[in-house]
Amino acid sequence: MLGLLGGTFDPVHVAHLRLAIEVRERLALDEVRLMPAPNPRLRDAPQVAATTRLRLLRAAVEGIPGLCVDDRELRVSGPTRTVETLRKIRDEHSGRSLCLIIGADAAARLDLWHQWEQLIELAHLVIARRPGARLPSSGAVAALIERHADTRVAALAERSAGVIHVCDIPGLDISATAVRERLANDRCVEFLVPERVRQILLKEKLYAKN
Ligand code: ATP
Repeated sequence: MLGLLGGTFDPVHVAHLRLAIEVRERLALDEVRLMPAPNPRLRDAPQVAATTRLRLLRAAVEGIPGLCVDDRELRVSGPTRTVETLRKIRDEHSGRSLCLIIGADAAARLDLWHQWEQLIELAHLVIARRPGARLPSSGAVAALIERHADTRVAALAERSAGVIHVCDIPGLDISATAVRERLANDRCVEFLVPERVRQILLKEKLYAKN
């Protein structure tokens, strides 16, 4: 089983890594690929270049078993859509279980994604709880979750796509927004980002105000 964790990673922080590690261990995934997005449609433009975010991400996963970086979306010219990326990965891994991992905040806005109802035909959806974010209790996303929800981990191995599994990982109230704000205000980001990432952020004055 293959896990896919997309994001802006502007910059990567320890909650991203704990999310990938927890989900990989709990669901016994072979690997989790962290996939940086170039310029997400549904949010403000990232503050640093895609190549820099990629470099930070590579430094972050180095030496962590089962985690790797997949930069395919950065190699696409023009806007990327998760559904199209998933189609390509599905073509490469026919019959293999694919788990698209998203935090509860992203899940709550899933219906804004391009062709969002097709995501579940291409992969399982693993939704991780996130402090401050609630899963919707009504509306289209709630209905999708209800239709496909399965609490059994084994369900993810029984078929290659189509299951929604909510994963109750330990909450870490850390966001890239908070890390950016700290850096802009010259505040300490120790233990919020991996040490190797912190060194690069400070050395290159990334996200600094001036
Ligand atoms: P920003 O603050 O810039 O919006 P972010 O911290 O949410 O960024 P993203 O790169 O947008 O980071 O997140 C990538 C994925 O990781 C999303 O699915 C998001 O829900 C999830 N994620 C990020 N931080 C956490 C966290 N603390 N707990 C659980 N999931 C998280």
